[in-house]
Amino acid sequence: MVVNMENHNGSDDINEGTMHIKLYWSKEPKYNFDAEIIEIDGNWVRLSDNHFYPESGGQLSDTGILLIGDDRINVVDVQKRDNTDWIKLDDIENLKIGLKIHARIDRVRRINLTRNHSTQHLISAVFWKLYENETIRAEIGVKETQIGLRNIPTVDEINSALLEAERIIMEQVSITSDFVDDVNRLSDTIRGGIKKDMPLYRLVNIGNYDTNLCGGTHLSNTSQIGGIYMHKVEGRKLRFYSGMFAKEEYIRVNADMHIMAKTLGTKLSDLSNSLNELKRNFELYRKENHTLKVENNSMNYNLLDWNRSGEYNYKVFETLDIEKGAILGSIGELEDNQLVFAVKPDNLLIVVSSSDSITADLMDFLRENGIKGGGRGRIQLGKLSQPIHEFKSLLKNIIAKL
Ligand SMILES: [Zn+2]
Repeated sequence: MVVNMENHNGSDDINEGTMHIKLYWSKEPKYNFDAEIIEIDGNWVRLSDNHFYPESGGQLSDTGILLIGDDRINVVDVQKRDNTDWIKLDDIENLKIGLKIHARIDRVRRINLTRNHSTQHLISAVFWKLYENETIRAEIGVKETQIGLRNIPTVDEINSALLEAERIIMEQVSITSDFVDDVNRLSDTIRGGIKKDMPLYRLVNIGNYDTNLCGGTHLSNTSQIGGIYMHKVEGRKLRFYSGMFAKEEYIRVNADMHIMAKTLGTKLSDLSNSLNELKRNFELYRKENHTLKVENNSMNYNLLDWNRSGEYNYKVFETLDIEKGAILGSIGELEDNQLVFAVKPDNLLIVVSSSDSITADLMDFLRENGIKGGGRGRIQLGKLSQPIHEFKSLLKNIIAKL
């Protein structure tokens, strides 16, 4: 029998050539099975019977173990090669063709992948039905699944789509698969389209709601999805959890929201309004606070007396934590014999004089006395390494030498 499948996610993972219907498609998944090794290639083996799902259709591969006598060998990967399934082992000592093995598939991993794959079909179906928004890519993981849509969905569309998906979960719709060997018997309305030159097709149906050509593993009923949680929306890309992972996230977020509402002193239903109001007020207070700091800064600067040393008048100005531009605004223009040293709470020093050369000379002297910094122009930055009172006495001597 020949089976070909158009892959639902648009990747080039299309089965071509001859093969039997895969054992991992059976209605009752088999997590334990006996087989024989029939081919060995490096770390890879082929089994007479295989229930391990190979990575394909966006769904990650199964993992598990092979038991050979008392030996336990890990199955770390499964891949398709020329329509046969190859199993990658982490140990190949003592392997030979004809050896009988017992295989155990990592059941929890498979169940998660299967549930996420069916969830992906459901979400893709809903976006297609409601908005004709096609899924062009899908990555089905153990915890998280991602779909890439053709068009960027709006927040409202996502909400409506999730609501519709949850409705179908609650309605306990059967998920079935069947095979069709005549392309003419396939409807042109199949989601994802049909590659018409194939002798056999595997269809995965969500009741009468959705049909898609797919070679993945699937649940038998939408109720087994348990719930969907969209944990990230990045443009066209939606990332979600299903089952227990979704429930855990809902519970965590719900608890967080209650704590937030309590902190804000508001009702849960008013949370979003309260947050917006808080944000508006915060912006207002931030601006007011800045204006006050700038005003306070100018006032302090103007109240400060000039000190005298040698030829110069100078001020050591302990400024508030505001940006350099606002500090310079407070200082204004300087006369030829005026110097200003502004010190921020984090010991950042701003040296200002009326000319590039005076500031450069000052910085040279300051560096000789352990102050880090430098630059160009009449305004330069430094960092104090001593307490401010020590800096002040040091400064008097330095300026006297200018
Ligand atoms: Zn699929």
